[in-house]
Amino acid sequence: MTSLGPGAAVLAFDVGGTDTKSALIDETGTVRDLRRTATARGADAAGAVVADVARLVRELRERHPGADVAGVGVVVPGLVDEAAGVGVFSANLGWRDAPIAALLQDAIDLPVGFGHDVRAAARAELEIGAARGLRDVVIVPIGTGIAGTIVTDGRILVSGGYAGELGHTLADPHGDPCPCGAVGCLETVASAGAIVRRYAERSGTRLPGARDVLAAARMGDRVADGVWNEAIDALAQQIARLAGVLAPEAIVIGGGLAQAGPLLFGPLAERVDALLSFHRRPRLIPAAVGEDAGLLGSALRAREVLS
Ligand SMILES: [Zn+2]
Repeated sequence: MTSLGPGAAVLAFDVGGTDTKSALIDETGTVRDLRRTATARGADAAGAVVADVARLVRELRERHPGADVAGVGVVVPGLVDEAAGVGVFSANLGWRDAPIAALLQDAIDLPVGFGHDVRAAARAELEIGAARGLRDVVIVPIGTGIAGTIVTDGRILVSGGYAGELGHTLADPHGDPCPCGAVGCLETVASAGAIVRRYAERSGTRLPGARDVLAAARMGDRVADGVWNEAIDALAQQIARLAGVLAPEAIVIGGGLAQAGPLLFGPLAERVDALLSFHRRPRLIPAAVGEDAGLLGSALRAREVLS
C-alpha cells in the first residue's frame, strides 16, 4: 500500500455506506492495523456513527499503546460541508444537516479533522498519486456510481458540499430514472453498475461486473458492445464539457471501471479528442492510490488540522 510519508501519527476513518475502514497511520506514514467493520446504524444516524468511531479510537489506542497518536481524521459520504463541519445529506446513512465535526470533537479527546470521502480520496491522489503537481484537474472515481472532485487553480472546489457531482449531470434526457430523483444522469449510463444493469436488461443475462461486459463485447457480443460504447460516449461527452468549462490539464479516472486500463482509456481519449476543437485537451490518467485513497485522505485531513 502507498505510504503517506513522515508526519504525525494519526488514526484515520473512512465511513462508508456499508463498512467503516479504520487504521493507524504511524510517524513514517505507513498504514497499520487496517480494519473493516460494519458502519453503525441507529435512529440517530449521526450519533450512532460518532459513538462507533469514538469506540474504535479507544480500541486502536489500546492496541497500540506505544504509538504517539496526535489526531484523528474522519471522512463520510454524501454531501459534506467541510468548512461548516456538517454532513449536509446522506441518503445511505440517513442524516441531514448533522453537525458531525462538533459531535466527533465532543466524543474524542484528540484533535479531529473532518471531511468528505470523495474529496479526501482526491486529496490523496493530489498529494501522493496521479494528480501530484497538477493545479487544474478533475478526479473521477467510477464504480457503482460516479463521483468527482474539481481542482481549479490548485484549490478543491467545495461549494457548500454540492460541487463535483459529475454522476448526477444529464447524459440522456430520455434515459433511465436515477435513484437521485432526476432522469438520465451520467451514472445511469456510464458507471460500472449501470453497465452491468443495462446489459442484464437487454440480454437477460446478469454478468458479475463491467469488465465481464467488456470481455463479452470483445468476444463479439453486440449487446455488450452497444452498452459499453454508450458508456464510453457518455463519458467522452462529459469530459468534453469539462474541457470547455474548466479546461483541466488532466482527468484522473479511478474506481473499478479504470481497471479496464487501455481498453477504457484508449477509446475514451479518441472520442474526447473528436469532440474538441480549440480547447485545451485534458490528458486522461488512471488513478494511482487505489481503493484505500479515502482512508489516506482522512489521515491527511487529520495531519492538516494538526499543522
Ligand atoms: Zn442522478
